[in-house]
Amino acid sequence: MMNNPSAPAIQFDQVSRHFGEVKAVDQVDLEIMDGEFFSMLGPSGSGKTTCLRMIAGFDRPTSGKIRLYGQDVSNLPPYDRDVNTVFQDYALFPHMNVGDNIAYGLMVKKVAKEERVRRVDEILELVQLTGFAGRKPSQLSGGQRQRVALARALINHPKVLLLDEPLGALDLKLRQQMQVELKAIQKRVGITFIFVTHDQEEAITMSDRIAVFNQGKIEQIGSPSDVYERPSSAFVAGFVGTSNLVKGEVAKRITGSEQTFSIRPEKIHLGSVRDKSAEDMVSIDGVVRDVIYLGLYTRYLVEIEGGGDLVVIEQNLKTTSMEVLSAKGQKVKLSWQKDHISRVGG
Ligand code: ATP
Repeated sequence: MMNNPSAPAIQFDQVSRHFGEVKAVDQVDLEIMDGEFFSMLGPSGSGKTTCLRMIAGFDRPTSGKIRLYGQDVSNLPPYDRDVNTVFQDYALFPHMNVGDNIAYGLMVKKVAKEERVRRVDEILELVQLTGFAGRKPSQLSGGQRQRVALARALINHPKVLLLDEPLGALDLKLRQQMQVELKAIQKRVGITFIFVTHDQEEAITMSDRIAVFNQGKIEQIGSPSDVYERPSSAFVAGFVGTSNLVKGEVAKRITGSEQTFSIRPEKIHLGSVRDKSAEDMVSIDGVVRDVIYLGLYTRYLVEIEGGGDLVVIEQNLKTTSMEVLSAKGQKVKLSWQKDHISRVGG
């Protein structure tokens, strides 16, 4: 194959996939670098899975080109692409034990038995399942099955690994543990991982970069802190974490411009109306309409001067629940650093 090792792992050049009237993927340009942990994040139906299926070769673009390390693979069948996929439902063979499930790809390639055993042992160690080779999938927990699926996908050392909501079936605690493990495994093997999820926290925890999808298009690509701290659109601000959007007259009152901006609830300081505003801060007065005590932190809903509400989150450093709840109805001054504002257009 004509691979160019210095080219991006994946390149989308104006890729579209239409199903009749539905523009599942609409003129997407994208570059994913070698060795990156890259997430495709977006709500259901935004086109993430279709992008992944086109990279895998299970689906073809209606128009545009997909390159894998510089080679145009748009019309190659899946087995001619150096990529592998881990599915949400694991797709393990129930009648085969763990070792045979993992070795399946090597068997198809007619790798000798001795080498198969050696490589299965090696990969079982990588996914922390040493000693599990003889078990059947039905004798494993959900997290263990997930690791077997991962081991099976990694054993052929694909250049790119595609993961379609692979942690979706796990409970929250296991999911969080697997997020950390998956990231560590990716670092160790150095393979490009492309991870599809609708869970923003998951994408933020694991990724080097994230593409935020909306209606078949990418709204923003950037590091987790880019998309969180500097959302480029109202959609990204709303989808990645909670954000306050301030528009029109109220925006003008605060920033001098009517342009819509977003401000994260945890960046807002809740102070007394008598507080002086510091120079690099902007502020606005308001009245606390609602207080929700959440143990670790408290969420306040503040009606601001000129209309509209802002959500403010403060950590409960010294305060007790009684103290925070008594804030309801009080006049307050909200302030935040000027550079914590993101202009989101509109
Ligand atoms: P989810 O998180 O629910 O998997 P997604 O972001 O992965 O969503 P896709 O599965 O890529 O979204 O679907 C994008 C759009 O394309 C949806 O509107 C979907 O209904 C449509 N679509 C996907 N596959 C087909 C198909 N084979 N035939 C018709 N429409 C399809």
